[in-house]
Amino acid sequence: MKLTAVLLLILATWIQLWAQTKRCDVGVQAPPVGFWTWPTGSHVKVYVVERDFQPGEVSFLLTPLASWNAVSEVTGSRVKFEYAGAAASPQHCDNCLTIERGVVFEKQKRHLTELRAYSARGDRMLSWASIVIDPALTNPKALTDAVAHELGHNFGLLDCYSCKAKTTVMNQFGPINVANEMPGPTVCDVAQVKAAYKQLALQASRAPVIKPVEEGEEPVDDDTPIVVPKP
Ligand SMILES: [Zn+2]
Repeated sequence: MKLTAVLLLILATWIQLWAQTKRCDVGVQAPPVGFWTWPTGSHVKVYVVERDFQPGEVSFLLTPLASWNAVSEVTGSRVKFEYAGAAASPQHCDNCLTIERGVVFEKQKRHLTELRAYSARGDRMLSWASIVIDPALTNPKALTDAVAHELGHNFGLLDCYSCKAKTTVMNQFGPINVANEMPGPTVCDVAQVKAAYKQLALQASRAPVIKPVEEGEEPVDDDTPIVVPKP
């Protein structure tokens, strides 16, 4: 009886460990990680281009900021987003993120949002960025989901179209204007961002490697950051 109990305990522990290691497999439940991130501890000012959105849409755009802020300490990014108000145009200032509308679908035919990013030092650390949302995306909940997804790109997460539904905010979206009910990061997203910032800290403790700016890089069939030329 005692031996059975021990064996069951070993089995339970093994299953638990297996579940933990399997739970966030890249490409299954977890998105891969790229390079684009806000520097650790950044306080990012978020602007919304006033002419692009109805007053009632703004709160839907801002909801995911709180979701990502909530995991700021857990991920180790210590990045905080703060709504700075309406703006007449995209803000190209340090630690500024603008949410604006622009044609995305006609160019890419695959998605309705994209992140445009600029790194002043050319090291893929964000200086400023824009989340661009196609005018065709109008469902308020889908707007929330889109911003939550694009904020994932702000932390180095890449799209994961092969990931199982609801496992990551970086999943592919369904039909246009159908919300996927993913307004913030999942456990696996948090784990991946944590890993990305840990890696970043390791790199920072070594000799800095400054990569050249890849200006004018062509967008791939993915909405992961598009490098924009110097303003
Ligand atoms: Zn994406």
